[in-house]
Order: sequence, then C-alpha cells, then structure tokens
Amino acid sequence: TARVGVLALQGDVREHVTLLERLGAEVVRVRRPEEFASVGGLVIPGGESSVIDKLTRMFGLAEPIRAAIREGMPMFGTCAGLIMLADRLVDAIDGQQTFGGLDVTVRRNAFGRQVDSFEGPVVVPAFGGEPVHAAFIRGPVVETVGPDATVLASLDDGTVVAVEQGNLLGISFHPEISGETRFHRRFLARVAART
Ligand code: GLN
Repeated sequence: TARVGVLALQGDVREHVTLLERLGAEVVRVRRPEEFASVGGLVIPGGESSVIDKLTRMFGLAEPIRAAIREGMPMFGTCAGLIMLADRLVDAIDGQQTFGGLDVTVRRNAFGRQVDSFEGPVVVPAFGGEPVHAAFIRGPVVETVGPDATVLASLDDGTVVAVEQGNLLGISFHPEISGETRFHRRFLARVAART
C-alpha cells in the first residue's frame, strides 16, 4: 500500500485522512520534516492558505516540500492547497508565499460574494462518466494557465477549477466532503507508480 501524507498544520485534515484510508492508503499526518520524509506523496488540504504558508515555514516544512515538488513527488492540493501549489498568486496577503509547482496564476476567494460557497456538478473529461459533485467553499480561481499546466476541469462559464502538471494536481473545490473519490485515486495511482 502507498504511504502518503496529509499536511496537518491547519485545515480540513481529517476528511482527507478518512477518505485516503478508505481507499486503502497508509496515511501519515505531516507536521514535522521527519514525518514528511517518510511519505511518497502529499495532500495539501483546504483551510487558510496564508496560515498554511506561515506554519509550514515556521515548522521547517516549506523548503523540504519545495524540494520534493522539484523531484516530482505527487501532490494533491484542494482549495487552499491549490493556492499553495500555484506559481503565482495575484492577491497575496502581505508577504504570503506559495510552494509553487503549477504554472498557473490563482486568485483567492474569487467567486463572487453570493456564490463564494456553492455545490454543483463539474465535468472532468479525463474521468469520463459522471460529473464530479463539487463543493466550493471560498475557493480560489485559476486565472491564467501557463504552457506547462493542463486544465482538467472548468465551469460552464470557462472558469478553470482543476489543473494538473506532472505529478501535481490542484483543484478549487472539496471532493473530500462530497464523497467524490476519483481525484484521490488519481493521486494515489501516481504515488503507486513511483514506488
Ligand atoms: N480562502 C481560503 C484561502 O485563501 C481557501 C478556502 C478553502 O480552502 N476552503 O486560503
């Protein structure tokens, strides 16, 4: 079985751990560099990206995570996790940094006020079959997609909400709270392919 980490400094950690375990993965809650060193992939949960940024730097995890991204470790970021994986952030809270890795520009809290949280079906062509039931909770929008990243899903109005680049996967919404397992399985397959 794949041994994977969930970055567990802030955010909806438990939902990801539960889902990954249900899919048969061995899951480590990652709070320290030693824990990170023991995993073959990392999920970065939703939460508040500026806090995740501060805490990962404070706990000495930011640099190891950046190094692992450069080395091709599979990572999957949801919502705040997508922000952390974006190369460019247009509205960073003073000094906020990201790990980078996805050649995209992301805007935080970018769905209008009325719709900053909503649920609905999202078609993911790579999955075929049923659309994904997606829960958006003050999620970020991918404003521009550079040549190195691939769009996995967008809304009817063209808003990009899921992107991929090599072993990195980032999405604006929360599949872990709506019972959607295909993104997590895609992530686990990448981890398995490397070990
Ligand atoms: N608005 C949050 C941020 O900027 C993301 C929201 C979420 O992860 N549900 O980090």
